Amino acid sequence: SDDEGDGAFTRSQALFERVARTIAGGESSYARLKKGLELCFDHGEGSHFWDIDGNEYIDYSLGYGPLIFGHRPKKIIEAVFEAVNRYGTVATFPYDLDAEVGELITELVPGVDLLRFANSGTEATMAAARLARAYTGRSKIVQMEGGYHGWADTHFWSSHPDVWRPEVSPYSPVPRPGSRGIPACYGEALLIAQYNDREGLAQLFERYGDDIAAVLVEPVQCNTGVILPEPGYLEFLREITRAYGALLIFDEVITGFRLAPGGAQERLGVVPDISTFAKALGGGFPIAAFGGSFEVMQLEATNQVMHGGTYTANVVALAAARAVLTEMKTRRQEIWSVLDGYGERLREGLAEACRSAGLRCLVQGIGPVWHIFFAKPDAPDLERIRNYREAHAYASIELFDRFHRAMLARGVYFHPYHFERWFVSAVHTEDDVRRTLEAAAEAAQEVVAS
Ligand code: PMP
Repeated sequence: SDDEGDGAFTRSQALFERVARTIAGGESSYARLKKGLELCFDHGEGSHFWDIDGNEYIDYSLGYGPLIFGHRPKKIIEAVFEAVNRYGTVATFPYDLDAEVGELITELVPGVDLLRFANSGTEATMAAARLARAYTGRSKIVQMEGGYHGWADTHFWSSHPDVWRPEVSPYSPVPRPGSRGIPACYGEALLIAQYNDREGLAQLFERYGDDIAAVLVEPVQCNTGVILPEPGYLEFLREITRAYGALLIFDEVITGFRLAPGGAQERLGVVPDISTFAKALGGGFPIAAFGGSFEVMQLEATNQVMHGGTYTANVVALAAARAVLTEMKTRRQEIWSVLDGYGERLREGLAEACRSAGLRCLVQGIGPVWHIFFAKPDAPDLERIRNYREAHAYASIELFDRFHRAMLARGVYFHPYHFERWFVSAVHTEDDVRRTLEAAAEAAQEVVAS
């Protein structure tokens, strides 16, 4: 039929041009598109989506993470419609959904006794940092190079320094802004460490310990591909922050309600003082949250620390979160056997497909999230990548791009940026896995041959 895709992007190209005439750059979030790969979306269903030329893809991007129950998750959408018909959209006052979602989150997440809702991961992280600074009376936050905590002036520093600014400079604890227009003063309230580097962090604490309010970290660093904590590293973060009277903030925007119902802190067994959540919490509807121990959160409870927002705790957000969390609580076993099972098989299968074609690579991940780092020709053989500097030295952008294009042509989509990541959902299927691995075997051979 007319609507069946043949791998052409004619309609996407035309629509993209139209979009870009009024939407700056054609997108409302940076790095969503890749030059030359301006797909336009038609619709999604389950683990698949279609572009407007009718091309179908198995989706491992999942809307940048939230679609843990896939595209158009029926139960969640119905729950949202029902709630909007019952309540309207903005509740004005506290209501029963506040209590219900609050109870579900505090029950599921080990480190959260009290919480607040927000609208995006960016906001939740800003709130968490402010809270930590207020609680400790100190100014500096330590972040990891290559991590990402949203695009705010206060946190968008040293995220991918050598991508946004091509010169490769040595690692420095002095942060580098991720955008033009960010005032230098915000950088003075940050320090940059390397993920998994205990020695370096210990030195920062020795030197600046009295000023450090918190270490803000993705428990699994999922914004430099995927980098796992070395054994004992998260425990080390817990101990050193405690020893210096600083707080430990886990940014669980990616890992939360994904590595386990209780996030990385449940799965990896280290409980932070403050946690932030977004993405999977809403199953595709915009919601975020931050929370922590009673003691720390008292500052929010008494409004000594200001946090707000017109749309926080709106009906759509909370109805979606209630549906997501209820599913996770009641079908836990079933959901995580799919997420972990397919995650594991895809990691092994993708690594095997690439290696047997002769492509050197590292596939790193945990549960339903992972990444493939293709080795540059001159990269040393590594057992694993432990931080941003190693990723930068090891990973070939060119090979990643070629593999991405070869997979796209075979109907498999993952994020086109070489330091993002793959996600699998709870509604991916046996058939998806088989087709993905077949595509990968062919794609890897094509990359080697070209
Ligand atoms: N923290 C982490 C770890 C993230 O990955 C992201 C988004 N990718 C954010 C914060 C920001 O979340 P949002 O895009 O919802 O503002």
